[in-house]
Amino acid sequence: MAETIFTKIIRREIPARIEHEDELCLAFHDVSPQAPTHILVIPKKPLPSLAEVTDADTPLLGHLMRVATDIATKLNLINGYRLVVNCGTDGGQSVNHLHIHLLGGRSLGWPPG
Ligand code: AMP
Repeated sequence: MAETIFTKIIRREIPARIEHEDELCLAFHDVSPQAPTHILVIPKKPLPSLAEVTDADTPLLGHLMRVATDIATKLNLINGYRLVVNCGTDGGQSVNHLHIHLLGGRSLGWPPG
């Protein structure tokens, strides 16, 4: 997988406001927040997108979801929140390292654009 800016964040080569880290993943605040809370949860393993995951990644995907929901609880998003995974060009993915967006802190519109 080609290196992305997220690999550099994992290696601490560029700064980020980190919210959570464990052996499998990193969560940090989006540099261009689309809601009062906008956090990205990424695997440390280099996975370009959801289109490239295999059965072996199923536990990792569950872990990323649990980390995102734990952060939502920790940040007191009591009125709800949204998890988004953009995949590929039509999905609007701009960074080719799998990531879950955690968005909250305001009422979010639907459907997305
Ligand atoms: P996506 O469009 O789903 O691929 O989302 C990529 C996200 O990464 C966007 O919301 C960007 O604002 C965010 N992003 C890009 N560079 C950085 C960075 N250096 N630190 C934090 N977030 C970033």
